[in-house]
Amino acid sequence: MSNLTASTPVWLFDLDNTLHDASHAIFPSISANMNIYIARVLGDGVTPASQAAVDAARIGYWKRYGATLLGMIKHHDVRAADFLHETHTIGDLRALMRFERGLAAMLRRLPGRKILLTNAPMRYSSDVLRHLKLKRHFSHHIAIENMQVHGQLRPKPSKLMLRRLLRKHGLGARRCILVEDTLENLRSAKQVGLRTVWLTRYLRQVEPSGSASLPKMAKQPTYVDVKVKSLRQLPARLHRLR
Ligand SMILES: [Mg+2]
Repeated sequence: MSNLTASTPVWLFDLDNTLHDASHAIFPSISANMNIYIARVLGDGVTPASQAAVDAARIGYWKRYGATLLGMIKHHDVRAADFLHETHTIGDLRALMRFERGLAAMLRRLPGRKILLTNAPMRYSSDVLRHLKLKRHFSHHIAIENMQVHGQLRPKPSKLMLRRLLRKHGLGARRCILVEDTLENLRSAKQVGLRTVWLTRYLRQVEPSGSASLPKMAKQPTYVDVKVKSLRQLPARLHRLR
């Protein structure tokens, strides 16, 4: 393998609140669906559970497992496909989307191939990518259904999942750069040896998990190599990722 090939970066891009503004209308819709779904599952079969019970489950599972879905699977025998389908059925997706212009040009200016790595389900993330008109820029599309280790879902920030992904694609960690809005995911990626780009533009609302995503810190954590407000700043910051 030539030095050029070995050193060409491979970009792992998150989707929600990285390539588009999911907080604007999509996350609130998914969040409302999750509340209804969880209230039904936690209810007695006739009466849905209270909002307080739903909130406690969402926040508790999110803290304990990194995702509400993982707790629902573990403790309530929820089928992942069922949960993902119902919570992501949100009507006219295109009408709910907000995103920056010029993302295709930005992606073209980044050397190396790009992989989409999203904790969202495949169907929803394919639809979002199609509306963004970015499909052809990604060599692979890895959605939550593809993040299974030993038959269990292991979404970001799972280091086990990341290591297996690198092995499967024959990639050295140092070659890879994760571009994300979620700090927990960047921290674990850094621990695995990837380089990290933190996108802050869309951090203002509440994640579907029910947990506020806006970090209290204004400064750049040590596990973040590059912090950008807009993805359009990224090509000009490439030298910081050498
Ligand atoms: Mg995200």
